[in-house]
Amino acid sequence: MNVILLGPPGAGKGTQAKRLEEKHKLIQLSTGDMLRAAKDSGSELGKKAKPIMDAGQLVPDDLMIDIISERIGQPDCANGFILDGFPRTIPQAEALDRLLAEKGMELHSVIEMKVQDEILVDRITGRYTCAKCGAGYHERFQVPKVEGVCDVCGGTEFKRRSDDNAETVRSRLAAYHAQTAPLLSFYGEKGALKSIDGMTEIDRVTEQIEDALGAA
Ligand code: ADP
Ligand code: AMP
Repeated sequence: MNVILLGPPGAGKGTQAKRLEEKHKLIQLSTGDMLRAAKDSGSELGKKAKPIMDAGQLVPDDLMIDIISERIGQPDCANGFILDGFPRTIPQAEALDRLLAEKGMELHSVIEMKVQDEILVDRITGRYTCAKCGAGYHERFQVPKVEGVCDVCGGTEFKRRSDDNAETVRSRLAAYHAQTAPLLSFYGEKGALKSIDGMTEIDRVTEQIEDALGAA
């Protein structure tokens, strides 16, 4: 099963992708995580992407399409994957269609996670992750069971993303509305789109996604 989680930054794509990964044994493909790893490694891709990400804009389509093309061809993706953060433009969606056709793969569902902008700003500015295993938390909405200790790996160091600040969030939301929201009609016209309410509790969002996948 190959699924796209579509939604603005902070909608909860990463949070839900991790749950789907575990339950359905799918691979989470987060282009944001891939770019952050490239930045941390100091690679050419990372050097190109850094100023663009810090400005809250989108990395050029050709780079993103190459990354995904290479990644979905790897053996661990054969049993299914969850795209989290890709596609983000119409050219990326068209390229994905071509890539899937070439590789004999199908898209099971595109799930839109609907969340209002004001809520997104709160979610993004309060987001942090475990420095050791990457588990995601929020200052108010998703705190570890024991304060300062990661639920998943017991790690005690946490980090924040450099682009998770109030100014950059505004640019990222503007990029979403201008460049990514058109994908809703792109997939809607194909009959592949299911929209869910991303503003309820995390567990309720998971239930809606499971329903949408079952009904697809
Ligand atoms: P995305 O991957 O779409 O950018 P995340 O999954 O990282 O979003 O979620 C953004 C932040 O909001 C995280 O700190 C996460 O803990 C929190 N969060 C995710 N889903 C919900 C929800 N349904 N209600 C409240 N907070 C949430
Ligand atoms: P994310 O982790 O999905 O919020 O992505 C973080 C940043 O990485 C975005 O603000 C973009 O600058 C860049 N990025 C991630 N995925 C893409 C994509 N598919 N196309 C263009 N830029 C991307």
